[in-house]
Amino acid sequence: MAVCMEQSFDSNPRPTVFQLPRQTGALAVAQACRESALHFVNEVASDENSHRSFLVWLSGSYSWLTSYAREASTGRPSDDRFNVQAAYGGVESEMLRERITDAREEVLSVLRSLTDEECAYQFAGAAIVDGLIIECHDGEGNRGWIPVAQKNSTIVQRILSLVAVDYLMQGEEYEGSLCVCGRCDRVSFDSIDRARGSCRHHNSGIYARRIADTWPAAPRETA
Ligand SMILES: [Zn+2]
Repeated sequence: MAVCMEQSFDSNPRPTVFQLPRQTGALAVAQACRESALHFVNEVASDENSHRSFLVWLSGSYSWLTSYAREASTGRPSDDRFNVQAAYGGVESEMLRERITDAREEVLSVLRSLTDEECAYQFAGAAIVDGLIIECHDGEGNRGWIPVAQKNSTIVQRILSLVAVDYLMQGEEYEGSLCVCGRCDRVSFDSIDRARGSCRHHNSGIYARRIADTWPAAPRETA
C-alpha cells in the first residue's frame, strides 16, 4: 500500500535510464574512459604541441565517449561529434597549452587522492551531483555510467568525467593498483608500479631484483 501511495503522488518521476547500444558493455565503456583519460595525462598533456594533440583527442575518443550522453539528451541516435571549434576555436595556442598543463596538474592531484577510499567516494558523489556523468544500462542489464560533455566544462571536468565513470565501475583498481609515478607523474594501473611508487621506467634496482626472483627459472643448458 505504501508503495502505491508513493507512486500516486510522485509528480516528478525519475528520467528513463539511458540504454547503451547493443554490443556495447558498460564495463567496456568504463575501460575506454580510463584509456582516454590516461592518454590525456600521459601523452596529450606532455606533448610539446599539446594544443594540437588536445584538439585531436577531443575529436577522437572524447567525442566518441560523450556521444552517448548527447544521444541521451535528445532521445534519438545522433552522429553529432563534440564541437571542438565551438569550445576551443577562439583560444590562443599558448593559452591553450597553459590550460592543458594546469589541467594535468589538477587531474594528477585528484588521481593521487583516489587511492584513499573516502576521498574517492566523495569524488564520485560530486561527479554525479555536478552532472559530469549520468547513469546507463547495457544490453546485459548491467548498470553503468557515461561521461557528459557540458557546454562550459573545464578541461579538468572533461578528464574527471572519464575518471569518474571508470572509478564507479572499477573502483577496486584505484585502491589497489593506481600509481602516479613519484619521479615523472606517469599514471598507470599496475600493482607492481603501485608497490614501488614509480612507473616501469623509474623502477629501482632493488625492486627489479625482487621481481626477478619470482620469475620461473630459465631451463639450464646441458653440456
Ligand atoms: Zn616514471
